[in-house]
Amino acid sequence: MDRYCVIGNPVEHSRSPWIHTRFAALTGQALDYGRRVAPLDGFAAAVEAFRAEAAARGERAGGCNVTVPFKFDAAALAQSLSERARLAQAVNTLRFDAADGRIHGDNTDGVGLVNDIERNAGVPLAGRELLLIGAGGAAAGVLGPLLDTGVRRLVVANRTVDKAVALVRRHAALALAHGTTLEAWALGEVPGSFDVVVNATASSLAGEAVPVAAGVLRPGALAVDMMYGAAAAGFMGWARAHGAVPRDGLGMLVEQAAEAFALWRGVRPPSAEVLAELRALVDAG
Ligand code: NAP
Repeated sequence: MDRYCVIGNPVEHSRSPWIHTRFAALTGQALDYGRRVAPLDGFAAAVEAFRAEAAARGERAGGCNVTVPFKFDAAALAQSLSERARLAQAVNTLRFDAADGRIHGDNTDGVGLVNDIERNAGVPLAGRELLLIGAGGAAAGVLGPLLDTGVRRLVVANRTVDKAVALVRRHAALALAHGTTLEAWALGEVPGSFDVVVNATASSLAGEAVPVAAGVLRPGALAVDMMYGAAAAGFMGWARAHGAVPRDGLGMLVEQAAEAFALWRGVRPPSAEVLAELRALVDAG
């Protein structure tokens, strides 16, 4: 039995154990997936303890997912990084190499978001104009994969504009390679309107208003909040009220997990089926 877990603080709310347990059942993979809380200054020690406990039981730790606030610690801990994790400077998936135990870091958040938008919501991104609100770990994780879709224009807007500028600078070469116009703006100054708006801020968690003007939404725009459940309600209501199509972050959550599962196990799980099951579970409260 190979062992996996999600490490965060807090982590009790995480749906990852449920998602990966369903993936394992549906693909016939023998694995156990749990959750572990780490002290704020103890991420590396928590990873080490997880691996040591599995070894002491004669089992193998295959990897872990990493959530708030440890995605930057995970990038520092990894001994090698995928290109998308290097650009993001943030890691949400660690894989422990079976042969030599080395720690490889990846970031599956971006591919999860892109797969949810393109496959699940049926909105191809090539040639579109997209607004990404936020410049924290979540926004950093998705910017590279969003550029890889061939969007025509991508604007990053953040409360602290310097963070948006830094993120855009780091991705300038990738944007140039794709012929994408990539810009950084302050929240209240975003010029123009967009086909797709993605909220990667924690503003809805804080119960605060949507931090951009409704004019950013073109009629029928897709408006995605990375949150789900009650935390996404404010953004979803705002989008609906202004003629956009709202979408929460549940699909991204399942799709980023599917990418991590494929990285660990070499098998792609049926993510659409698991998303439908999880949606029913969340809707039932
Ligand atoms: P983070 O690194 O702490 O960044 C927080 C971001 O939110 C920053 O851009 C921050 O702006 C902005 N922000 C916070 N409060 C705000 C407010 N009141 N008004 C405007 N902007 C505000 O957090 P993160 O890791 O990026 O995560 C962001 C959210 O995405 C989290 O709630 C997380 O749960 C969610 N997420 C979901 C998925 C999924 O699979 N669905 C995956 C990853 C993350 P400043 O820079 O100005 O502080």
